[in-house]
Amino acid sequence: MSSTDKHQQLRHLPGVDHLLDKTREDERFTAVPRQVITRAARTVLDHLRRQILDGRNPDFDDIAILSDIDRQCRQILAPNLVSLINATGVVLHTNLGRALLSKQALENIQTIAGAYSNLELNISTGKRGLRYTAVESLICELTGAQAAMAVNNNAGAVLLALNTLAEGTEVVVSRGELVEIGGSFRVPDVMIKSGCRLREVGTTNRTHLKDYAGAITADTGMLLKVHASNYRIQGFTASVGLEDLVALGNTHGIPVMEDLGSGTLVDFSAYGLPVEPPVSRSVAAGVDIVTFSGDKLLGGPQAGIIAGRKPAIEKIRANPLTRALRIDKLTLAALEATLRLYRDEQGAVRDIPTLRMLTMTYEDTCRKADLLYELVKKICGPEDTVACVDMKSRPGGGSFPDLELPTRCVTLIPATISVAALERRMRLSTPAIIGRIENNRYIMDPRTILPGQETLISSTLDTILRPS
Ligand SMILES: *Cc1c(COP(=O)(O)O)cnc(C)c1O
Repeated sequence: MSSTDKHQQLRHLPGVDHLLDKTREDERFTAVPRQVITRAARTVLDHLRRQILDGRNPDFDDIAILSDIDRQCRQILAPNLVSLINATGVVLHTNLGRALLSKQALENIQTIAGAYSNLELNISTGKRGLRYTAVESLICELTGAQAAMAVNNNAGAVLLALNTLAEGTEVVVSRGELVEIGGSFRVPDVMIKSGCRLREVGTTNRTHLKDYAGAITADTGMLLKVHASNYRIQGFTASVGLEDLVALGNTHGIPVMEDLGSGTLVDFSAYGLPVEPPVSRSVAAGVDIVTFSGDKLLGGPQAGIIAGRKPAIEKIRANPLTRALRIDKLTLAALEATLRLYRDEQGAVRDIPTLRMLTMTYEDTCRKADLLYELVKKICGPEDTVACVDMKSRPGGGSFPDLELPTRCVTLIPATISVAALERRMRLSTPAIIGRIENNRYIMDPRTILPGQETLISSTLDTILRPS
């Protein structure tokens, strides 16, 4: 196409004002805000202009343009943050929002966020109160700590504790514990940002008490232990127990802190899972501070919980950084309700989705897989390959790094489209369904599929595999 033809076409494109006038008489647009229609019209016209300049000779009349604008408007108006179905079997999936809240936590958010509250009011004195009061006594009761507080997340808790207790000093850490977790949280980097100097001791696989002892100087401000929450060092290994580290710290008058990452309040070994050190163990060992996440094994909202000795907690509260990392009232409401459930461990395992999914037995997953299998089988054709297969699910989210939970999954190899295309179509449907691909099979793991979602999965598969 010659450039004069292109200019001819460009000149024939309708103007935004003309299109806006057209939408006024069109009931598809009556509920759409003007600014959204304008933005959509501009996007559609830009797109047409580019097509013309590329010589692609697009077809455009008002009817076609208006339906493009309508489509564009609906895209703009659709919510960005949406709920979806996690069929990956990864219980604590950071990309999918980590822990699901219990019904009790959700209800408490509703109660507290929709009304005024005593967030920072002491009702009995009428004076200003502390927002930590809502959770402090619960955390102390459940962990044995003298004092406690909560901030935005565990990364913030670690930063805050290091900055308060060890700014300008050396912090001694084992080389085997210089953790990196997803989202660019690295212990050495957090150390720098908190104003401390990292003093690495030992080797990657072995660190002894004498390594810590030998590193202590007049500049040492803290002994730090970091729980290997997302990796394991195996084989010829040695690390120093918390009790020994606390004794060493006491001898030298140096505070000892532990970053537990995925701290737990229940003993998972009672449910056939590996031992994950409970927070109470760290407290009993005598640490000054222990920090852990609210939305990992605790199964609550995103938060960083700081528990330990009263003097250390009081110092942290007085740090101006605390204000910058403060926990908000929605989180606090969810955290309090979650913690309350732990007073009855069986109730907690029943009501907190993270605990329920992690402790789900193989037999439970078989029952759920059978249900899904029957529904999927019904909508599949004879050429599609559907099966129930024994597989492993991973807990995820910086917990139980080497654990694989035995799980029965439903696998599907569609006859009409590729497995990759199926994964993509499932992900792009509403609600999005996130499965995984293994050995060129599409896999749905019932561990993270909530009751009732099975029918949504099968009806989505129906539209994908049997387009009308
Ligand atoms: C997950 C984790 C963190 C960060 O916790 P967030 O709540 O995600 O900020 C810090 N340290 C360790 C050891 C962790 O596992």
